[in-house]
Amino acid sequence: MIEDWKSYEPLLIPDIPNLHKIDVYEENDGYSALRTVLNDQEKWSRTDVTNEVKAANIRGRGGAGFNAGLKWSFMPEPDDRPRYLACNGDESEPGTFKDRNIFEFNPHIFIEGALIAAYAMSVDTIYVYIRGEYIDWVHILEQAVEEAYDRGYLGKDILGKGIDIDLHVTYGAGAYICGEETGMLESLEGKRGYPRVKPPFPAQKGLWGNPTTINNIETLANVPLVINNGAEWYQSIGAEGHNGPVLYGISGHVNKPGVYEYPAGMSVEDLIYEVAGGIRGGKKLKALIPGGTSTPVLRADQLEGVSMDSNSLRDAGSMMGTAGMVVMDEDTDMVDLLWRISHFFHHESCGQCTPCREGTGWLEKVLLKIKNGEGEIKDLDLLLDVTTQMEGRTICALADAAAWPVRHTINRFRDEFEARCKKSVHAVA
Ligand code: NAD
Ligand code: SF4
Repeated sequence: MIEDWKSYEPLLIPDIPNLHKIDVYEENDGYSALRTVLNDQEKWSRTDVTNEVKAANIRGRGGAGFNAGLKWSFMPEPDDRPRYLACNGDESEPGTFKDRNIFEFNPHIFIEGALIAAYAMSVDTIYVYIRGEYIDWVHILEQAVEEAYDRGYLGKDILGKGIDIDLHVTYGAGAYICGEETGMLESLEGKRGYPRVKPPFPAQKGLWGNPTTINNIETLANVPLVINNGAEWYQSIGAEGHNGPVLYGISGHVNKPGVYEYPAGMSVEDLIYEVAGGIRGGKKLKALIPGGTSTPVLRADQLEGVSMDSNSLRDAGSMMGTAGMVVMDEDTDMVDLLWRISHFFHHESCGQCTPCREGTGWLEKVLLKIKNGEGEIKDLDLLLDVTTQMEGRTICALADAAAWPVRHTINRFRDEFEARCKKSVHAVA
């Protein structure tokens, strides 16, 4: 649990006016990590950079929490094939809106991190994939990329150090599934965003069949911090096993929703009541979705002493996900909430796998029945049974992401669901 958070100075998005402009970024030590690496490629060999990032244990901020440096190390030795870094800025998980702040307020820290990652993996082409709804932020990033090309940080012979790296910005058209890493690769190739079976993992067979690493935007923004300050320093920030700064996206029934940067391991209580100004109207907290809707909801009584890091959230019965916290007050209708979540996943299923295509449809339909007061108690068991038929049986994690909220919300708020069912039985009688 982080005690001294009030004195924390943001590292990813410091409070510096116009930091999105390259002059301001450079005045504030911007691109110094890239210079450090490229100016001394003997000390900072590609392997050394990867090892430092691996030792820092930057947990992937896109939701899965995978060690970024370890992921880089999965890239095969260079051969005659092209190699790619695909940066995932599709953030479409409901409750998740934090990468947007990097694009808006500090795009160069991300570009710098992506360049260091590309160097470490011998990649010469970077793609950035942004959700289509973020078109204004696409333009901000494009402007930053243009500035980086003009200053010699991108393109041929970067900083005169014999390294060539290009970066292309592209955007989606509103499909959640294009944020799934292999769906994103298909979309980048100009095809429908159908996720691919893994293995082979993208490191072996990614874009156009070539070695590719996919990293989230916030994950890459952490890289310059590690290079400038070292893995040990990075490890000293945050919680045991979950380090570094985190962009907490806090939404729902709080007085001050927004994106807030603090170390990993902040207490849920501090984030809700101090950082986000407490619950609207002085109401009581009922529940929290900690990291985007695919992470299991927690009741208020399960949150005592819980902090926002993977260990604490696992022990409490959930996951860190994207740290997109959805706060719900005492008036929240959990049946309505769950139906809305299920509607989302049904709408976004790509339809390739039967358990997902049919399962998400059944979940939504049965929940609508319960929401409308026409459900029976046995429908709750039917829903739980459908979730077990979906989990772990599909190409990508969307089916799991659809199944988990149903299972955990029903199990953790069973009385509420039963009460809604009972009402219909009485009404019929
Ligand atoms: P995952 O745990 O399967 O994989 C994590 C990463 O590690 C992937 O890049 C994968 O390719 C790589 N990897 C894992 N094992 C590997 C191996 N043996 N060899 C090589 N590479 C390996 O998770 P995922 O399917 O990538 O992501 C699911 C997560 O995404 C969920 O936890 C969810 O929270 C999150 N999510 C986020 C958003 C968002 O908007 N940011 C949207 C939907 C889902
Ligand atoms: Fe498509 Fe769902 Fe299968 Fe993922 S699990 S590939 S979204 S049908």
